[in-house]
Order: sequence, then structure tokens, then C-alpha cells
Amino acid sequence: MTSPCADSGPLHASCHCGAIGFSVPSAPTKLTECNCSICGRLGVLWAYYEVKDIVWERGEGTTVPYVWGDRCIEFHHCPICGVTTHYGGVLAEGAPSDPTSRFAVNARNLPLTAPVTVRRFDGRSSWTTLAHDRQWPWPDQPDVLDGP
Ligand SMILES: [Zn+2]
Repeated sequence: MTSPCADSGPLHASCHCGAIGFSVPSAPTKLTECNCSICGRLGVLWAYYEVKDIVWERGEGTTVPYVWGDRCIEFHHCPICGVTTHYGGVLAEGAPSDPTSRFAVNARNLPLTAPVTVRRFDGRSSWTTLAHDRQWPWPDQPDVLDGP
């Protein structure tokens, strides 16, 4: 049974300035906060989708990738406002993307109206989930309680 206040249908993700926009098919049921060297600095909350789930609306191909280390993941941000938009696998030049590969969305860019449980993932050391003790948006955030 679905909560009557859960978000349903496509949700439109946008960076702060609006240059980057895409939709995801539905609200996430779980978010991930990770403490690894990059996620901890970015302060993002990840919602996991697949490449085929994403419908680009604005700015496809214009996000700025950041890769390091073994170069298997690209973190992307808006070239104008700098907000992190997503991460995904690094493609060999000219290679088509696997439609089922992970496309991780920065959930802070999604207009979520119902709180979603946040999983705290210890990517810094143990590579395990430590707790599910938070929610985003905050349950006591006034504009969430007021609703759309
Ligand atoms: Zn932007």
C-alpha cells in the first residue's frame, strides 16, 4: 500500500539555475548518504535509477564530469551553478551507454514532498550500511507539512 502523501509519477530534477533538467519515473523509496572522500565533500543524497529511466529535458551532454583514481565513475555538475546533478559509469569514447547501468541522481535536486528514508552508507571504510535513521526532506520541514 502506498502512502497517500507519497510522490507519484515522473519527477523533474533541476539544478539550482535550471540549465540542467531531467525527469525520473517516480520518487525514490530510499536515499543514500555516503561518507566516502567524494560523497562526503559533495554532501549529496543519492537516489539510484538506471540510464534508461532518465528523460533529459535540458542540458544533456553539457554537465561537467569529474573522474579520478581508477576512473570508473563520473560525477557530474552543472557548468553554470555548480550543483552536482548525477553520477554514472565512465564510457569508453564512442561507446553506447548500457541502458541498465546505474544513474545516481542527487536527490536534493528532486521536488520531493514526502520524507524518504536515508540510508547512511560507510563508503569511507567498512562499505556497509550503518543506519537508516534520517529522512529527506526533513519530516518537520514546514513546506513539506503544508504540501503542494
Ligand atoms: Zn545549474
